[in-house]
Amino acid sequence: TDSIPASVFAEGWLKRVYEEKPVPVRSRFPPEPNGFLHIGHCKAIAVNFGFAKYHNGVCFLRYDDTNPAKEEEIYFTSIREIIEWLGFEPYKITYSSDHFDRLYELAEELIKIDKAYVCHCSREEVNLQRGGPDNRGPRYACSHRDRPIEESLAEFRAMRDGKYKAGEAYLRMKQSLTDPNEGNPQMWDLPAYRVVEKNHHHRTGDRWKIYPTYDFTHCLCDAFEEISHSMCTTEFQQSRVSYDWLLEVLGFKIPKSEEKGPMQREYGRLNVTGTILSKRRIAMLVEGTTIEKKNSDGTVEKKVIPPSVRGWDDPRLYTLVALRRRGIPAKALLYFVEELGVTDALTDIQVLRFEAAIRRHLERTVPRLMLVLDPVELIIEDATEADETELTIPYDPKGMIPGERKVKFTRKVYIDSSDFREEDSAEFFRLAPNKTVGLLNVPFAVRATTFSKNSNGRVSEIRAVKAEGEKPKAYIHWVDASSGIKVVSRQYNPLFKTDSPNSLDWKEGGWAEDLNPNSEVVFKDAIVEKGLEDLIKARSLHPSHASDDLVRFQALRTGYFCVDPDTDGKKAVLNQIVSLREDKSK
Ligand code: ATP
Ligand code: MG
Ligand code: MG
Repeated sequence: TDSIPASVFAEGWLKRVYEEKPVPVRSRFPPEPNGFLHIGHCKAIAVNFGFAKYHNGVCFLRYDDTNPAKEEEIYFTSIREIIEWLGFEPYKITYSSDHFDRLYELAEELIKIDKAYVCHCSREEVNLQRGGPDNRGPRYACSHRDRPIEESLAEFRAMRDGKYKAGEAYLRMKQSLTDPNEGNPQMWDLPAYRVVEKNHHHRTGDRWKIYPTYDFTHCLCDAFEEISHSMCTTEFQQSRVSYDWLLEVLGFKIPKSEEKGPMQREYGRLNVTGTILSKRRIAMLVEGTTIEKKNSDGTVEKKVIPPSVRGWDDPRLYTLVALRRRGIPAKALLYFVEELGVTDALTDIQVLRFEAAIRRHLERTVPRLMLVLDPVELIIEDATEADETELTIPYDPKGMIPGERKVKFTRKVYIDSSDFREEDSAEFFRLAPNKTVGLLNVPFAVRATTFSKNSNGRVSEIRAVKAEGEKPKAYIHWVDASSGIKVVSRQYNPLFKTDSPNSLDWKEGGWAEDLNPNSEVVFKDAIVEKGLEDLIKARSLHPSHASDDLVRFQALRTGYFCVDPDTDGKKAVLNQIVSLREDKSK
């Protein structure tokens, strides 16, 4: 598969990163397997895998599994599948835990060269040593910092052997805590190892009671895997110094040089505003939550908030599994990232801009069909057998998408209820009594004569006659009643009424008041032309689409749709991927 366009690597930030170190590229994408990836991770995947691909190098998928309490098998699987879906193949799949033995040995080595010590201070004490709450006060060492090497070594082994509970002992790196000129908090004796209470690890079992920290693990794993360019997001900018420090003291890197060992560089995060990306918050939407509020009289009030989406892949979310299910093509996502470019600035993008990029991609790539969301019968009374034909209509009137489909036309068709008005008015150009409208691709226009309503006042049937020779002011879409297929169609709107859901009250459950009751609109009796069946059949004949095999189409005058996996033998379920145009009223 050809994936991300090359231009993003040939210029700008990524070009400069390569020029700083023009060697065979070995990169890595290092997710923590503690949740589902979100739209922001797509940028990290594109940058790391794409950069390697562009330079004919390799990219590892490395699970950063050093936090056993939060890791679950399903995340490992999902991350791998999403990378494959995006069109990338890891050179190797590795785990930080592959290196636990070697990391442990290096920790002992660090103690032996007097660059680490076991510390028993509480978190509060450590914060004070690091200059207090604002990190501005004087910094100082605790008594453990100068304890004999042998003692630290013995205590570190005691940590390993289970003598300490979580929080009772840490291995701290002996960096520059006491140097008053060192302004970077990442150099103030960061922890390298900690005792973990829930220590069962999905790969190493109960072998370890202590686990290495990110700051200790990441740079060393990069070095073990001989990563050339270690790209991460800018919140790690200050960590670059500690990254280099550890590699240098252990001999993996030459001070002030990129000649040997990995080189860390930082790009800006991608953030889509108006969406919820935080794992904790999405979990509340998926699982529901119970908020406990303490009243002044000491009683506790419980507020139960039920789940507000169907799962982590609910199309209203911005996890990558959700975007995939909603029908966003992998390639459209990669083009979106490419279009934004890669720099070291934070990229805050509005949902509308994201959707516009997706729309531009779909417009060039998917066939057109007719879908009626809210059908009303239209009977063309004077249509003769000769008028009933099978039309041949191209998948794309502009010819960008090859192929055509057969569309049956009979005297009974469905049109959308919104295309008919019981009373005509001057600014309305579609169907109304005594008004003429065109039916897309049908050789003659029709004029409505009468209509009838059902018991609840809804228009149920419109009668019309041919209006041959008349030139209608508008054309509407329709689906033939004898051959159309009934489908369920789901349309998605923002989950929250506000544009900035992240500023809602997430502590005490206030966010639940702001949920949009219309975030999902279901059309249970929608009807689509029979051609959808052909698209579904054609797709299953093309195994090359296997990694992105959703059936997608543009429903004329309506939106872009895909077939949802909820589809069973009886009825297809459709998701609206995006509307046809930006809805200015929203
Ligand atoms: P989150 O807390 O949002 O889930 P994270 O940083 O904890 O994100 P990781 O699993 O550690 O997630 O991320 C793997 C890689 O993806 C890291 O290199 C990280 O910098 C990058 N990444 C995470 N979020 C974004 C984002 N919004 N834009 C670009 N890259 C990102
Ligand atoms: Mg992280
Ligand atoms: Mg995180």
